[in-house]
Amino acid sequence: LKPVPSDIEISRSCVPKPMDRLAREVGLMLDELELYGKTKAKVQLSVINRLQAQPDGKYVVVTGITPTPLGEGKSTTTIGLVQALGAHMKLNVFACVRQPSQGPTFGIKGGAAGGGYSQVIPMEEFNLHLTGDIHAITAANNLVAAAIDARMFHEATQTDKALYNRLVPVSGGQRTFAPIQINRLKRLGIEKTDPITLTEEEITRFARLDMDPDSVTWNRVLDTNDRFLRKITIGQSPTEKGHSREAQFSITVASEIMAVLALTSSLEDMRQRLAKMVVATSRSGQPITTEDLGVSGALTVLMRDAIKPNLMQTLEGTPVFVHAGPFANIAHGNSSILADKIALKLVGPEGFVVTEAGFGADIGMEKFFNIKCRYSGLRPHVVVLVATVRALKMHGGGPTVTAGMPLPKEYVEENLELLEKGCSNMRKQVENARHFGVPVVVAVNAFKTDTESELDLICSLAKAAGAFDAVRCSHWAEGGAGAVALGRAVQRASEAPSNFKFLYDVELPIADKIRIIAQKIYGADDIELLPDAKHKVELYTKQGFGNLPICMAKTHLSLSHEADKKGVPTGFVLPIRDIRASVGAGFLYPLVGTMPTIPGLPTRPCFHDIDLDPETEQVNGLF
Ligand code: ADP
Repeated sequence: LKPVPSDIEISRSCVPKPMDRLAREVGLMLDELELYGKTKAKVQLSVINRLQAQPDGKYVVVTGITPTPLGEGKSTTTIGLVQALGAHMKLNVFACVRQPSQGPTFGIKGGAAGGGYSQVIPMEEFNLHLTGDIHAITAANNLVAAAIDARMFHEATQTDKALYNRLVPVSGGQRTFAPIQINRLKRLGIEKTDPITLTEEEITRFARLDMDPDSVTWNRVLDTNDRFLRKITIGQSPTEKGHSREAQFSITVASEIMAVLALTSSLEDMRQRLAKMVVATSRSGQPITTEDLGVSGALTVLMRDAIKPNLMQTLEGTPVFVHAGPFANIAHGNSSILADKIALKLVGPEGFVVTEAGFGADIGMEKFFNIKCRYSGLRPHVVVLVATVRALKMHGGGPTVTAGMPLPKEYVEENLELLEKGCSNMRKQVENARHFGVPVVVAVNAFKTDTESELDLICSLAKAAGAFDAVRCSHWAEGGAGAVALGRAVQRASEAPSNFKFLYDVELPIADKIRIIAQKIYGADDIELLPDAKHKVELYTKQGFGNLPICMAKTHLSLSHEADKKGVPTGFVLPIRDIRASVGAGFLYPLVGTMPTIPGLPTRPCFHDIDLDPETEQVNGLF
């Protein structure tokens, strides 16, 4: 229809096909499916074993140029492309996308199911609770938080012996260690299984984690944009006997458990990662883990359903896995490895799996390659780089673009000069993708105000920059039919030689790895480690975490650390304020500037429009 109706109107106008039919079409057995209502199902991990002998399909990652705050259509292009490949070119396909956080859905951004005629449906299911994975993470994360503070409280208020007696209580007439406690004893070098044989010194070492309250890095989480939880004081009731401390909340998708979910490769691997998460440092400098707290088994129980990918569909009936959504600011911003692996098996060698990496290519794609592909062992065939006229004009010096405000006239009238200048950003991002040795197809996501000459100019400059191909697409307005040219280009590129390589060797010193990313991807002259970051480099190297890959926490609105520097900034030194560790997920994250980990609500939040029609039970007001 023209004009294109709202996302929710389009989504609602289409009746999703029954899940059993969708499952059969994609080659799933019905007993591998766990239905959640009529339009969503979880898929059991046993599919991977059943299809072990099946060769993988082609693996495509969708990324973008440095965006405006409005987003340039990566999700929309991911969905448009699979609709083209699947519904129009009749190939086996799967889209693998992130589950959005509910915070932004009620806050400023709206949903993330794609847009126009390229969407995952039903969009209200996609954008709201889905199958409860994020809620499971909230529960698991906050169990760890409760365990930390309760443990510090008990240690502070009890003698070693009393603590030990409570940790290893008498049951059935004798004291027995729980299996998780025996693991801890082993890590402490105490090879004993009978609790009554521990010496006093061993009892103290076993019973006291001796966490330094100032070293606790584990935050509580909530999937709501509640800015007043950014800094809080906990333990103010008299029952906590003055053991109060300053603490923080983050949004649930920023929890390390979300990153673990996204990077894990099996239930056993998830169990190990959930056990390795470091939550604090002891007063003697030892890392304290979730396993030390005795909580890792319980976390695995809470996460046992969340580990299964969620099956949904696009407007054109092609399958979609929606699974994991790690915060792109401080985590790696990519959907799960498990969904990609299952999808690659299901589509078979001639099929395509299209996955999306959050933010621009300097962040999401770099992390997709250096973190996600390193852990999955999967090798992508094609990078699709989404570009828009509006973002490139902004990089050419156009006025600031603000969400919720009308676009200035430069963006709605032809301006080839501004556009050509701004294509420098696209050139740099094409070069960034080529560092990894994978062919790049530039997808020019057309808006109705773009002119023919503008769209042609981007395509020719993209090819000159070394892209394998560059095509304009209109899947937002036309669905899969508008992305067939893109689908063909991706198919050709997937047959081109690809010579995938990582950007850095993980065994390099921490600072060297950060410097390589800063210089090669961002174009920085050098990096500067500020005092906290220097201290962490020493600490993590000493604690044995120096060989983890790097997950940069940098603004996505510029290639540099300053959001207002557009185009291709040069002549800057990247300041590294601090470094944190997500040891269970498996990366170190250097903080470039300050990164709020829980967004706030604007004066006019999206929830003002959201309501339920009691007659039809339809959700109104999502977009
Ligand atoms: P990203 O994934 O890059 O953040 P999205 O795909 O979510 O971007 O798109 C951002 C917003 O822009 C969505 O509301 C989407 O519906 C809209 N959009 C995307 N492409 C177009 C287009 N070609 N024309 C109009 N609106 C578009």
